[in-house]
Amino acid sequence: MTSSTLLAAVTVAADRGRPIPDAATRETVGHAPVHTVDDLERAVAAARSAQPAWAALGHDARARTLNAIADDIEENAEELAVLLSREQGKPLDGPNARFEVGAAAAWTRSAANTPLDPQVVLDDGSARSELHYVPLGTVGAIGPWNWPVMIAVWQIAPSLRMGNTVVVKPSEYTPLSVLALAEIYQRHLPQGTLTALSGGGEVGAAIAEHPGFDKIMFTGSTETGRRIVAGSAGNLARLTLELGGNDAGIVLPGTDVKSVAEQLFWGVFINTGQTCASLKRLYVHESLYEEVVATLAEAAKTTPLGPGLEPGNVLGPLQNQKQFDIVARLVEDARTRGARIAAGGGPAEELGPLFYRPTVVADISEGAPLVDEEQFGPVIPVIRYSSVADAIRRANAVEQGLGASVWSADVEEALGVAERLQAGTVWINQHGTLNPEVPFGGVKASGYGLEFGAEGLKAVAAPKVVTR
Ligand code: NAD
Repeated sequence: MTSSTLLAAVTVAADRGRPIPDAATRETVGHAPVHTVDDLERAVAAARSAQPAWAALGHDARARTLNAIADDIEENAEELAVLLSREQGKPLDGPNARFEVGAAAAWTRSAANTPLDPQVVLDDGSARSELHYVPLGTVGAIGPWNWPVMIAVWQIAPSLRMGNTVVVKPSEYTPLSVLALAEIYQRHLPQGTLTALSGGGEVGAAIAEHPGFDKIMFTGSTETGRRIVAGSAGNLARLTLELGGNDAGIVLPGTDVKSVAEQLFWGVFINTGQTCASLKRLYVHESLYEEVVATLAEAAKTTPLGPGLEPGNVLGPLQNQKQFDIVARLVEDARTRGARIAAGGGPAEELGPLFYRPTVVADISEGAPLVDEEQFGPVIPVIRYSSVADAIRRANAVEQGLGASVWSADVEEALGVAERLQAGTVWINQHGTLNPEVPFGGVKASGYGLEFGAEGLKAVAAPKVVTR
């Protein structure tokens, strides 16, 4: 293993920290500090005291700082990607660790450079009203383990740009890569402006309840999202909740399966299926059913799976045992119900304890937990339908509403279906592609609030009307 200065800066002595395993090899990557609710008190006090001066700097100065941070992320990209790959499990290659670090720089830059001017909402000759967006104060950010670095940036960068200070708490499964990201950010920021705390759910719960936060940005499961809503009732902190998904895709009759095969595969298997807005249920018209199953199965069997640091691998292990067990349970249940395993269907033990073969499950329908629950791993149930209206009804019949996709040779027809799908984003002939300028968020139990672009900046600011 190459020596890493970023890792050395964030890891603590073994007797003072918690060992963080390499997701692929299970070797210890480093030791994460164990921050407590007392550390949170100190971080909040520092953030609140730093906030007025940070806000007073103005947009241009803060944008310059964020652009310098984006440059610094790029200069340290390989080191950060190696740490992320080891801790999270995602390979360096493919749409994985290097891609995630690139996104961290891109989203930092976008938060810096997206304009957000006051809006004139009324100017009728007798009165003029303008809507301004001013800092909220201090933002608490709580993140998941699947895209830990990129999602931390989604929370931190817009908050800083809008003149807030931030306390971020990464997932206990992936603290080191986020501490390393924060270390890069902190090189450019006044003391107290950004603090990263490495703690578990108890620190997250304390953030939700803390009167020192004006806003909580949360990305994680729907269950934890509900706890945050309840926990923040006392302080009335504003919330952005990016929660779980059970995204459906609908392949319409007449789709050219070959031409969409690659997008379809990565729509499912990006980050080895551990992605909030990845395809989790695929509805395929009966006329194309066997062709789609065979196409996905072939790709699942041939796409390189293995340890993230080995060049060429583009699929990796599950990040943790709990998630591995969920995936194994859902596939086993499907098998017991008589579903057809067209590819994969079990662990890849020869690669390590958390590797699971990319799995395609056919002849399955609603009622099976693999369809009804979020699998969050490298397995896709492919469901047959005969009427498009019926497929839309079934796609909408879950509590989540993060993303959805329509696959078709006829874009007009696909747009008609998209209109009827209940989701924060509907993609046509792609799934899960994101852009820092394009707002992203969920509906129903997938949460509320938008991230990215000007809408994302507004979400971490207080609207203030000035009338004269
Ligand atoms: P999780 O809810 O278990 O944990 C997320 C974070 O919440 C962690 O930092 C955890 O320590 C913290 N936490 C735990 N208990 C808490 C409490 N009581 N109060 C406050 N914080 C608490 O989620 P996870 O397993 O890390 O992530 C997977 C889930 O996240 C999936 O459902 C996935 O779909 C969802 N997700 C959504 C998006 C999105 O943008 N919508 C993105 C990534 C992941």
